[in-house]
Amino acid sequence: WSKADGRARWTLYDPDRGAHQLTRQLLTTALRPALERGEFSVEYQPLVGLADGVVHGAEALVRWRHPRYGTLSPDRFIPLAEESGAIVPLGKWVLEESCRQARRWLMEFPDTETFVSVNLAARQIWDSDVVADVAQALESSGLPARLLQLEITESALLGPGGRPLQALQALADMGVRIAIDDFGTGYSNLAYLSRLPVHVLKLDGTFIEGFRDPVPGRPGQGSRRTEADEQIVRAMVQLAHALGLTVTAEGIESAAQAERLRLTGCDTAQGWYFARPGEAALVADILRGTRAGEARP
Ligand code: C2E
Ligand code: MG
Ligand code: MG
Ligand code: MG
Repeated sequence: WSKADGRARWTLYDPDRGAHQLTRQLLTTALRPALERGEFSVEYQPLVGLADGVVHGAEALVRWRHPRYGTLSPDRFIPLAEESGAIVPLGKWVLEESCRQARRWLMEFPDTETFVSVNLAARQIWDSDVVADVAQALESSGLPARLLQLEITESALLGPGGRPLQALQALADMGVRIAIDDFGTGYSNLAYLSRLPVHVLKLDGTFIEGFRDPVPGRPGQGSRRTEADEQIVRAMVQLAHALGLTVTAEGIESAAQAERLRLTGCDTAQGWYFARPGEAALVADILRGTRAGEARP
């Protein structure tokens, strides 16, 4: 409103924008009924050990199978669910469903100890009794706490007044592993994180984007961008290890990225190169595979 020029005015009456607002509103009010109708599902994406190529666990990623709009990605509805508070029942459902699924993997493949990694929204950990919900999900599924990992973003860790999350210690005490998701996109530092009960750093995919050039074997062959990004990741991995954290990297799309990443000492990786998110059966197929959960020969 302050800018009274033509352009600002024009966007005010943009019909697309109006439609967008309407969709937002429709989707927001549809969230809770959709949960009751069973329109949500969970896909799983393997987390692969870089040293052994073995699938150690899988991240649970929620999907909305909307009868009219088709399958909606979480980026479309998780923010709406956070704003409206629907994330609390939705997140609880994802937690329960994921624990039930990981328990099935444990029953079918007892030697693999495949863990499930579940995303928690800020609002779940600040406005709900997440500790009770996690305890309940573990108990009703029969999943051992050590096979549950919870992913929390840096920004969600700090609440009003910079108060660190109280529930974190209680969750860690239960034996659940805590991962910091999208690490490197916010402002928290590793020294601070190391004082919290945190076990895993998940490096944001943007760090890996620069790992473009084919390969090592010949150091000094990469571009400047590749080399700088590689140095940064290597330093973060070393520091994280020194602080007793393990490191996972997201968004690995090519063999060259996987190989460069492996050379940084990063522990595990996730990305389309290894496997896209898919139904639970996808993970089961990999675990059933000839070489005990090897994602790639
Ligand atoms: P995230 O937790 O960082 O999850 C990783 C995202 O990267 C997923 O997107 C995944 O499908 C995508 N991805 C995996 N491999 C690759 C790759 O090689 N290249 C690229 N470009 N992308 C890759 P997705 O499934 O669309 O989820 C988006 C975000 O939605 C998640 O980011 C997470 O923040 C949120 N989310 C998903 N499920 C849940 C949930 O159950 N609860 C909450 N609170 N948030 C969720
Ligand atoms: Mg995540
Ligand atoms: Mg992430
Ligand atoms: Mg991410």
